[in-house]
Amino acid sequence: SVPMSSTPYTRYKDTMHAVVRKLKLSDAEKALFEEPQFIHKDTLKITKEDGSTLELPAFRVQFNNARGPFKGGIRFHPLADEDEVKALAALMAIKTAVVNIPFGGGKGGVQCNPKELTKGEVQEVARAYIRAFQDHIGPDIDCPAPDVNTNSAIMAWMRDEYEKQTNSYSPAMITGKPLSYGGSIGRDTATARGGFFILQEMMDREALDPGELTVVIQGFGNAGAHMAHFLHDAGYTVVAVSDSQGGVYSSEGIDPVRIQKYKGKTGSVAGEYCEGSVCDIDRMKMDNVKHITNEEILELPCDILIPAALDNVITAKNADKVQAKYILELANGPTTPEADAILEKKGVHVIPDVLANAGGVTVSYFEWTQGRSGEQWTEEQVDSELKRVILEGYKAVRREARREQVSYRHAAFSVGLKRMLAAMRVRGWL
Ligand code: NAD
Repeated sequence: SVPMSSTPYTRYKDTMHAVVRKLKLSDAEKALFEEPQFIHKDTLKITKEDGSTLELPAFRVQFNNARGPFKGGIRFHPLADEDEVKALAALMAIKTAVVNIPFGGGKGGVQCNPKELTKGEVQEVARAYIRAFQDHIGPDIDCPAPDVNTNSAIMAWMRDEYEKQTNSYSPAMITGKPLSYGGSIGRDTATARGGFFILQEMMDREALDPGELTVVIQGFGNAGAHMAHFLHDAGYTVVAVSDSQGGVYSSEGIDPVRIQKYKGKTGSVAGEYCEGSVCDIDRMKMDNVKHITNEEILELPCDILIPAALDNVITAKNADKVQAKYILELANGPTTPEADAILEKKGVHVIPDVLANAGGVTVSYFEWTQGRSGEQWTEEQVDSELKRVILEGYKAVRREARREQVSYRHAAFSVGLKRMLAAMRVRGWL
C-alpha cells in the first residue's frame, strides 16, 4: 500500500512504476521517467501597493523534451510547491505523447494566494515570473500556458514582459493568450471541449442517451464551467457544481447559465476572484437547490463525476462512497493510486487526466503553430482538429487497455511512455 506520506510526485511515480513493470522496461529506460530533466527555482520579490514586500517561491520544472519543446501551464496557488509542479510536469509529458502533439512536458507554479492580491500585484507576479525564468523559456524551448488561477490576461502580461526583456516578437512563447494578442479561437473552452468529445464518443459507443444521464462537476473555473455548459447544451442533466467556497445540488438539474450569472464571469483576476461564488447563498435564490460541501459533492448519486478543481480529492477515504459509473478527470491528479484500485474493483470507469483534459494542450499546440505561421484558424477548424486529435488519443488508449487488460490510466501511461521512449531511442539518449 502507498505510504501515508504520499505526495503528488510519489503518486505519479506509483502509477509510472506499475506501468514500467508491466512494460518490462530496463532500469536505464525506467530512469528516464524518475526525475525531470531540469528544475528551475527562484524567489519572486513583489512590492505590494501598501509598500510591504512579498517573497514568493516560484518554479519551472522541465520534465522531458524528447518529443518537442517543454509545454505546460503556470499555476498561482498557496499549495504550489516543487513536488506538485514536478508531478504536473510529468503528467504533461505523458499527455502530449498520448495525443501525439510535438511537445514535451513542463509546468510552472508560484506559491501565492492571488485572491489576496490586487490586479496590479498579480501583473507584477506575472512579469517577475518571466524575468526569473526567461533564459529557460521560448517558442522552441519551453512554452507555458494558463492553469489554476491564471488566465489570458496573465498570459498577455507574460508575453509582453518576455518580448520586452528579449527585444523580440515572440507570439509562440506562451499560449492561452487573449484573441487580440495572438490567442487562438477555442483555447478558452478547449480543455472542457476535449473532455466533452471523449465523453460523447463513449456514451455513443455504449448507446447511452445524454437525456438520461446525470453529471456532477467539482470546480467551476475554466475547465469545470465550460464543461457544465457543453453538457447542459447536449442534454445531460448537471445536478451539482461547486467552487472553492462550496457547492449546490439539485436532483432536477442546474442551469449553468444561471450559476454563471451568480458567480460572475470565469477567468477574472485579482480583486474579482472572490466576487460571487457558486454557494453565495444570498444571491442564489434558486428553487430546490441544496448547499453541499466539496467532500459531499463527490459522493452524490450520478452517472458521471467530473473533478475539475484540484488534485488528491478522490482517495482511499472516499473512493468506496463514489456512486458515479464514470469519472472524467478534467483536473490533474484528482484520484490517488489507492482510490484507483478501489474504483476499479467497483467497476467505476475512470477516464484519466492525461487523456481527459488533453484538449487544453492540444489547442495550445494549434495556438503555437498559428503564432509561428501567422495564420489564423477558424472556429470550425479548431473544433474539428481538436476532435480528431483527442479521439485518436482516446482510441489509442482504448486499444492499449483492451490488449493489455489494464485500466485507462495505465493504458494512457503505457501509450505515453512508449512514445517518449521511441523518441529518446532514436535521439540516442538510450
Ligand atoms: P481555474 O482557476 O479556472 O478554476 C479552478 C476552479 O476550482 C475554481 O472554480 C475554484 O473555485 C475551484 N476550486 C479551488 N479550490 C477548490 C476546492 N478546494 N474544492 C472545490 N473547488 C475548488 O482553473 P482551471 O484552469 O479550470 O483548472 C482546474 C483543473 O483543471 C486543474 O487541475 C488544472 O490543472 C486542470 N487543467 C486545466 C487546463 C486548462 O487549460 N486551464 C488544462 C488541463 C487541465
